[in-house]
Amino acid sequence: MRIGQGFDIHRFSDDATRPLKLGLVTVPNATGLAGHSDADAVAHAVADALLGAAGLGDIGEHFSDTDATWSGADSRLLLTLVVQKVRDAGLAIENVDVTVIAEAPKLGDLKAAMAHELTDVVGAPVSVKATTMERLGPIGNKEGIAALAVALLKEQA
Ligand SMILES: [Zn+2]
Repeated sequence: MRIGQGFDIHRFSDDATRPLKLGLVTVPNATGLAGHSDADAVAHAVADALLGAAGLGDIGEHFSDTDATWSGADSRLLLTLVVQKVRDAGLAIENVDVTVIAEAPKLGDLKAAMAHELTDVVGAPVSVKATTMERLGPIGNKEGIAALAVALLKEQA
């Protein structure tokens, strides 16, 4: 068995029309996060947990934020490619567990949808939890959203 952790954080965009993508779900009526790709901090944390567990580096090495290929990239594609890299390394994904840290918007109603979409792409159970920072610090001041993930892999027989 191999374990990996992932962390990602993005600040909110100054562009109020930018959609908020979290866990491969578009959050309604919310300003998006700034970033080179679609800035899906949840999908990126999951990707880094998977890459870390596989010993394959981090998301920035595979999808550089200075590479125009990934400008505005859909994180569903990035995560799909990461899952393929993990499988190509002879590893099977057991499960992934995610914590989203956001003061706003409230994500309670969207946890199940995120888990469903992530499970679909990862091909193994992905659980999604949400919490706040109790109004402490930059996330507590609604400057951005962060996500943590852990992934468990096993060597394929
Ligand atoms: Zn990111």
